[in-house]
Amino acid sequence: MLESPLLAQTKGFMGGRWTGAADGATLTVTNPATGEALAQVSAMGRADAERAIQSAHDALATPSTLAQRQQWLERIADALQDERRELGRILSLEHGKPWAEAQGEVDYAAGFFRFCASHIDALEPRTLSEQPRNCRWTVHHRPAGVAALITPWNFPIGMIAKKLSAALAAGCPSVIKPAAQTPLTMIALFSLLERELDLPAGMVNLVIGPAAPIGEAFCQHPDVAVISFTGSTAVGQLLMRECADQVKRLSLELGGNAPFIVFEDADLESAADHLVANKFRGGGQTCVCANRILVQASVMDRFSTLLADRVRQLQAGDGMDPDTDLGPLINRAGHDKVRRHLLDALDQGATLVHGQDPGAQLEDWGAFFPPVVIRDVTPTMACSREETFGPLVPLMPFQDEDAALALANDTPYGLAAYLFTADRERADRCIAALRFGHVGHNTGTGPTPEAPFGGMKLSGFGREGGLEGLFEFVEVQTLARAT
Ligand code: ADP
Repeated sequence: MLESPLLAQTKGFMGGRWTGAADGATLTVTNPATGEALAQVSAMGRADAERAIQSAHDALATPSTLAQRQQWLERIADALQDERRELGRILSLEHGKPWAEAQGEVDYAAGFFRFCASHIDALEPRTLSEQPRNCRWTVHHRPAGVAALITPWNFPIGMIAKKLSAALAAGCPSVIKPAAQTPLTMIALFSLLERELDLPAGMVNLVIGPAAPIGEAFCQHPDVAVISFTGSTAVGQLLMRECADQVKRLSLELGGNAPFIVFEDADLESAADHLVANKFRGGGQTCVCANRILVQASVMDRFSTLLADRVRQLQAGDGMDPDTDLGPLINRAGHDKVRRHLLDALDQGATLVHGQDPGAQLEDWGAFFPPVVIRDVTPTMACSREETFGPLVPLMPFQDEDAALALANDTPYGLAAYLFTADRERADRCIAALRFGHVGHNTGTGPTPEAPFGGMKLSGFGREGGLEGLFEFVEVQTLARAT
């Protein structure tokens, strides 16, 4: 069992108090590197979620000033940075990513609170310089109301930081539901919030448990004003349907299928370095990970060799081992999906460049998947159509710019895309044609707190980070006052 001063409680939190499930149910959190049970945490249900929503609704009766919220945001950023090692340890143990990478995620999370704190002035009321209709016009940014925040397991602290920072900046009380695989980092965050801040009771609430009943409560309860969700497109679609009757506001960051385009004039060494950094972050389990590597046919041999040289050096292992570059996948289902994609590709004519099928004979908990690079990949293979979410690197050849763009855009998803070329004009032409919310030119970098991030098409809508993200939880109210 995992011992930590930040995990003295293993329950939900509502109305300013740690609270278990009404029926006493619990669920087990497992270390994906060892299969060991880390903790038993409360498994809450619909009635618990409704109580949390009520607590959040009650907190709306105590409005906060922008100055107060700015102080909260700064305190949270400081607390995260002070506890980056311990939070990173808990995160690494329940997710599997290397400890150093997990500490980097804590810094990233702190960045969102810091950014919202330093730009909160953007939410001040704005008075128009014009005075039409004999009125003075002012635009107010009101808290939208109770915000339900649903986060996935792949960034246990990063994803909640994006949402909670903006919700707090807007003055919205929130009810948070983490993924059942990684609730411990969230509990640790709540321990910090309780220890370091004096938030009004009900301002932040935590509900842990099976997703469907809690999700239903969020969608159907009239006091939830906005739902911010990061996860699969299928669940995002379900939430949209369930929120239709109440015309509830949604912010959805859904699946991706990121193309990574390498033109023959690119710095191939640098492109290979960026691909490795991008692709293997979180074990390949991020929605901005390159999923389809499109390489101009004339440089395919050279690029695949450069890539294999780098991938060969990656060390897979337990995230708490300092030599580990790549942890396990989150669970057996994640492992089996990567393997299905690999076998399907090999079956349809792809060839191995590095690595091999790890086989099916693993321990029950076995979720390690050593990196594999394949080439001669085609657009019909499962690894080109679906998000693999793991360390499989499929290289697909293309002939010219038009073909590269057609392949890149041949997906209903539109989250992240990357292109590597030394030709600035070609880059700008391609960027304008790419239907993706985030584009990297000669870089594989993902989002940062200072810039808006979000999807197009089936990857969802709404933005997190940047000034755009700061406005996700406010309701605009326009006042016309007779002069
Ligand atoms: P992933 O493949 O990343 O697990 P999911 O969309 O299943 O993607 O999960 C992302 C988050 O959404 C998790 O917190 C999960 O518990 C939650 N979730 C899953 N199903 C539902 C649902 N029906 N309603 C609300 N939240 C859900």
